[in-house]
Amino acid sequence: MTSPRIIENSPLARIARLKLGTRSVAMVLGNSIHLSGATKEEFLNDPYWVAHEMEHIRQFQEYGRLGFLWRYMVGWARHGYYNIPFEAQAREAGHRNAAQYAQGRPLPDPATMHQGPKAT
Ligand SMILES: [Zn+2]
Repeated sequence: MTSPRIIENSPLARIARLKLGTRSVAMVLGNSIHLSGATKEEFLNDPYWVAHEMEHIRQFQEYGRLGFLWRYMVGWARHGYYNIPFEAQAREAGHRNAAQYAQGRPLPDPATMHQGPKAT
């Protein structure tokens, strides 16, 4: 896999951030990670967050652009954001794979990881 492109101050991610009401958001489109409310450095220094978004990149590759977006939106409508199956998988992967993205450092306290929207 080629490493993803990281785009700071993304207008698309900003829309998602306002919609979700969170301080910062990362959003995957294809092989790009769009950020709003966080710098590239802040993102890369959170291995749990990177592992979470890398799982979305994998999902995107598995299902294709339309397949991913369609399933994502249907999952959102049916289950609410927190329980979208792709999000549940990505939260799990964020814990499971974080060590791969820790850049040789010990894993930070999981309590410090980026928080997405909570279950409502
Ligand atoms: Zn996610």
